[in-house]
Amino acid sequence: MSLLNDDTFKNQTAIVTGGGTGLGLAVSSRLGRMGATVVCVSRNTGHHTELLARGEQEGFPVVSRALDVRDARAVKTVVREIRDTCGGIDVLVNNAAGNFIRPAMMLAPRAFASVIDIALNGVFYMSREVGRVMRDTGGRIVNISAPYAATGKPGVVHSACAKAGVEAMTKTLASEWAGYGIRVNAVSPGPFVSAGAADRLWPSKEMEKAILGQIPLGRFGTTGEVADLVCLLASNDVPWMTGTILLADGGWSLPDPMMNPEDGRIDRRRQSSD
Ligand code: NAP
Repeated sequence: MSLLNDDTFKNQTAIVTGGGTGLGLAVSSRLGRMGATVVCVSRNTGHHTELLARGEQEGFPVVSRALDVRDARAVKTVVREIRDTCGGIDVLVNNAAGNFIRPAMMLAPRAFASVIDIALNGVFYMSREVGRVMRDTGGRIVNISAPYAATGKPGVVHSACAKAGVEAMTKTLASEWAGYGIRVNAVSPGPFVSAGAADRLWPSKEMEKAILGQIPLGRFGTTGEVADLVCLLASNDVPWMTGTILLADGGWSLPDPMMNPEDGRIDRRRQSSD
């Protein structure tokens, strides 16, 4: 359920990286339904088909552009083109990332660098170019982090390092760009169901059950409930929020979520029930 009005993003332009799949698709669709012109950028425009269809059916404009956020030069060109075509940029959602489970000792340096390149460097390239456009008008940037940036978790050293950098970037740019009227915040969602997440993050039934057992609220999140928070931070309805990392994870990052406070024993009911 959205906290925002139907016309919250009327006459605004919003760029969503990776905006055609998973969380990005949910964010793009919501921004469009609330009046935005949505600019979806990712490597493969075939991934924008569903968003384009929703835009056509529901009557919101979608601009689809091929862009690899690792390519700083291409980022500059595409952002300037969007600025010129749309007459400015009001919102940037840095959602694109790559992730998979791999023990650190088995992670190739190239694989580590590749994830850092998309999920950290790409966020900087996008923020830098869009920030230069927003400098004259103000705007909102929302980054997507993950709770393990703060807590650590086995198997995701590449993504955890990238997201920790994204959180540092969020706070740094929030502080540096506040004078331009640019607010920079992040949402840090726990495990939520997206097309790719199940294959890459909990590839077996055992892993799925183990992760569910770590979430006190006992379920994965949905793209819709995370997207609602992203849209809230992307709106002008929270004008005093900047540099915030908004956690929504069903309690995943709380320590010892299964401990029974009456006897201190670990309650494994959730792990053992199907
Ligand atoms: P997803 O469906 O796999 O989407 C990733 C998107 O990023 C795709 O649309 C992909 O499009 C785009 N992308 C990947 N590399 C790119 C590049 N080099 N340049 C431009 N676009 C690129 O992922 P998701 O599960 O919805 O996750 C979305 C965000 O939430 C990510 O930041 C992720 O780290 C974060 N997150 C996810 C979970 C979870 O449980 N799913 C939990 C915490 C945080 P192309 O292939 O077309 O490039």
